[in-house]
Amino acid sequence: MQRREFLRQLTAAAGGGQSGRNVAAGGRRPKPNIIVIVADDLGYADVGFQGLRDFETPNLDRLAASGVRFTNGYVSHPYCSPSRAGILTGRYQQRFGHEHNPPYAPHDERIGTPTDEVFLSETLRQAGYRTAAVGKWHLGDAPKFLPHNRGFDEFFGFSGGGFNYYGVSRRGAAAEFIMRNGEPVRPEEISYLTDDFTREAVNFVRRNRERPFFLYLAYNAPHSPDQAPQHYLDRVWNIEYGQRSVYAAMVTAMDDGVGRILSVLDELGLRQDTQVWFLSDNGGRRDVADNRPLRGHKGWHFEGGIRVPFVVSWPGKLAGGRTYDHPVIALDIFPTAAAAAGASTAKSRPLDGVNLLPYLEGSNRSAPHEALFWREIGGQGFAVRCGSMKLVKPAATDRIHLFDLEKDPREARDLAGERPAVVRELKELYARWNARNTAPLWTDEHAENVRKERQAVMDARRRALPLQKQK
Ligand code: CA
Repeated sequence: MQRREFLRQLTAAAGGGQSGRNVAAGGRRPKPNIIVIVADDLGYADVGFQGLRDFETPNLDRLAASGVRFTNGYVSHPYCSPSRAGILTGRYQQRFGHEHNPPYAPHDERIGTPTDEVFLSETLRQAGYRTAAVGKWHLGDAPKFLPHNRGFDEFFGFSGGGFNYYGVSRRGAAAEFIMRNGEPVRPEEISYLTDDFTREAVNFVRRNRERPFFLYLAYNAPHSPDQAPQHYLDRVWNIEYGQRSVYAAMVTAMDDGVGRILSVLDELGLRQDTQVWFLSDNGGRRDVADNRPLRGHKGWHFEGGIRVPFVVSWPGKLAGGRTYDHPVIALDIFPTAAAAAGASTAKSRPLDGVNLLPYLEGSNRSAPHEALFWREIGGQGFAVRCGSMKLVKPAATDRIHLFDLEKDPREARDLAGERPAVVRELKELYARWNARNTAPLWTDEHAENVRKERQAVMDARRRALPLQKQK
């Protein structure tokens, strides 16, 4: 069989396409506002619109109901920093060596998203947008890497990968701080970070109601540390086990924040003409998040690490209340937003993402991507999805797995032995994609952590066996 036909059959087998109505007529404003809201380590099943059971997210549900929910929506990496590099560049971050979380290094000018990469903020600012980043950055700590030097007119947040929600630095007050455009903010500006980020986001929208704006709102919720004020804890009092109640309170605070942003858009009459994205930067945390029915969690290339709650809402342009089932990836946000804004993108930095508008409007019914790819630790681990078939090579083991996600969304039945031709084809696709990547510019402890975690699982299984079999 020819490769093209082989791939066509795999892609067709995904049974994708959209359900529900098609497009409304064009929006009223020539340039819609763009808002990208990123949650941190949120579980696949920890939003009401994906089956949340023990607490509620009414505002995220309202957002999803007004837009298109991606049932096969992926991020380009199973943990924080590389995933964000993909979102903001529209390119697989392995193209430019951003394959690991950066160590906190405020004086190291080598560790951060390379400055010759073009961020969505730069592209939209050139198209006349006012731009702001609020929240967690995690794309480099040295000044040249910070948002206000990367196309954002304004930045309120912190540069690293996590922060105490009450504004207290883990590394001592002088080392790391909540900042506004690089300068420490006054202590009275910090109450609870999730609420503070919402306040800043709402103020930015109010100040820019008369011109097109781009807001990148990256909550660090519900990433650790587990901290929430009493009034949020009181709303999830029914959850009595472990730390999940605190996690639920943190998600509740974020959901309230999304609600406040939607409300201010409604109040200012901007809702129809604002493209709002919501997604998690990676799969849910292992300890307290709920990724069911997906396998694994943050850090893995199984679905629980990379398939996330993912929604776009643009009521003036895209009919809401729908799902879209073909695989999409967070890299698609960049070209979709740029197309909506009429912004031109840099030819020197070819985007891996696809403009989804023709697909979401229904004028193109094929799959946006022939295949999607993931890679970690310079290729020790990787994954490929083509149609409903997915190949996974975990970094922690030497095994190759093959799954049919259509029939087996939990990745429980390994088909690698039964379907060697598909394994070969997907490995070949990966090799061709990988030929355009570069080596990681820095490394982190992630590979070792994955290996330890894998060993802990195997040890636990061994302990569960009857004594005489423990050899
Ligand atoms: Ca994360």
